Amino acid sequence: MDCLFCKIIAGEIPSKKVYEDQQVYAFYDIAPQSPVHFLVVPKEHISGPSAINSQNEAVVGHIYSVIAMLSKELGYENGYRVIANCGEDGGQTVKHLHFHVLAGKKLGENII
Ligand code: C5P
Repeated sequence: MDCLFCKIIAGEIPSKKVYEDQQVYAFYDIAPQSPVHFLVVPKEHISGPSAINSQNEAVVGHIYSVIAMLSKELGYENGYRVIANCGEDGGQTVKHLHFHVLAGKKLGENII
């Protein structure tokens, strides 16, 4: 499958790893929008938020628990923002489900 994030997970495209387990891979975004900005993706290819269903939804809860665990390890427990863009109008450019984690400063109130 010609998917950028599947290639990153497989190590075919380099990335700066934050965390990995059997279900998920996390790596720093190449174009950071805040002092801490990384992406958490399921290893299973899911095309985006609109492809989450009763069969694959468990990984989403796991991703949020990994993000909470990393907040203590990486020292951003004061707060963070999680964003998942969906589809054309939502600004999703990579068609593999991913959660942006933004932290490291007091983030603005607006998300658009
Ligand atoms: O939500 P969206 O699809 O726009 O986010 C994709 C993200 O993937 C972007 O923030 C982009 O900087 C990041 N990216 C990356 N490494 C790549 C290609 C894209 O971190 N090789």
